[in-house]
Amino acid sequence: MEIRTRALEDNFRFLAGLAAPYADLLAIVKADAYGHSLAICAPAAARAGAQWLGVTSVEEGASARDLCPGARILVIGGVFPGQAATLIHRRLTAVAWEPWQLGELEAAGRAAGLAPESLPIHLELDTGMSRQGVGPDGVDAVLAHFTPASPLKLEAVMTHLFAADEADGRITAEQLTRLDAALGRISAAGHFAEWLHVGASAALLAGQAPEIADLAARHGMKALLRPGLALYGIVPAFDPEFVPPIADEAPSTLAAARAALQPVLSWKAQVVGVRAVPAGAVVGYNGSFVATEPMRLALAAAGYGDGLDRRLGNRFSLLVRGQRAPLVGRISMDQSILDVTEIPGVEAGDEVLILGAQGAETISAFDHARACETIPWEVFTRINARVRRFAV
Ligand SMILES: *Cc1c(COP(=O)(O)O)cnc(C)c1O
Repeated sequence: MEIRTRALEDNFRFLAGLAAPYADLLAIVKADAYGHSLAICAPAAARAGAQWLGVTSVEEGASARDLCPGARILVIGGVFPGQAATLIHRRLTAVAWEPWQLGELEAAGRAAGLAPESLPIHLELDTGMSRQGVGPDGVDAVLAHFTPASPLKLEAVMTHLFAADEADGRITAEQLTRLDAALGRISAAGHFAEWLHVGASAALLAGQAPEIADLAARHGMKALLRPGLALYGIVPAFDPEFVPPIADEAPSTLAAARAALQPVLSWKAQVVGVRAVPAGAVVGYNGSFVATEPMRLALAAAGYGDGLDRRLGNRFSLLVRGQRAPLVGRISMDQSILDVTEIPGVEAGDEVLILGAQGAETISAFDHARACETIPWEVFTRINARVRRFAV
């Protein structure tokens, strides 16, 4: 895999420009930077100006800390019991929403001798997704942990929008209404947080930064948005009927993003060998493909053990010498077979392009996703660790 760090940096700067002056960005580099390599992408995002990085776990946060000593690193997936001391030691910031999490963080903060109100916490609110976050009824119990003597400091309040790509903006509007009410309750209880962070790539690209910044400002807060997929150059698939919620103010954010964002990743393999087979030859496990005529087949060194979805066998093409070569037969663990009958001159060592561009042709993460009924996020994150990542 070739990772174009320049593209990632350009993407970050473009997105920061879309968010400005309304919101700052937290660059999501969880799941090994969406499979693009944390080691390559976290420093690139930081070089482009990212001050905040979002990772899944304390373990991933520790890796990010080694790579980016000066960044704020947010652990968005929650902290396991017993990890609070490590989190403090590695200067990571916890997303928390349950009383026991805050209890552990507080105890670890005291044990580390932290001053009152010095350990920043990002409190997640559940505004309708039922995944993470405290619901309206639990807010008071959670807030009770933020006392003047505690090392905990409420630095941010966050929530996750789960339908920002849908044509009907009703769900997002309801989430923002619930968020507004919860923020009112938090300030009525005498608490103040500096940051409000809401919204992933879809909200940012749909031009919702002004609306989120307005909501933050009403509560004396600053806004952060958390793009992931867009950083890697992919625009989420909005509903075909989608109309940006504030179309007058931001008619062009989506169109501008489609023009400006550049895919960061290319995934390549090589041809191991080429063979000629007669009509009637059986190809691959269980003979799911039978040669219809004399054919030339190239063996490619990539299989489902690399993250090439097995469902792509007999229904997708890769690129060889700038032309589409259909995958024939089942994909094996380490190999797959391409029909190169129509592509002259293919030989061992030729590049097989799995994802990215070759010549005038491209294969996008959406092409893969559509062919195996998933989403680009999954296409990226299941590319196996044995596929080496190179910064280019
Ligand atoms: C993954 C994630 C994001 C980024 O989502 P994209 O759709 O990839 O931009 C933002 N916030 C949270 C909490 C996430 O888990």
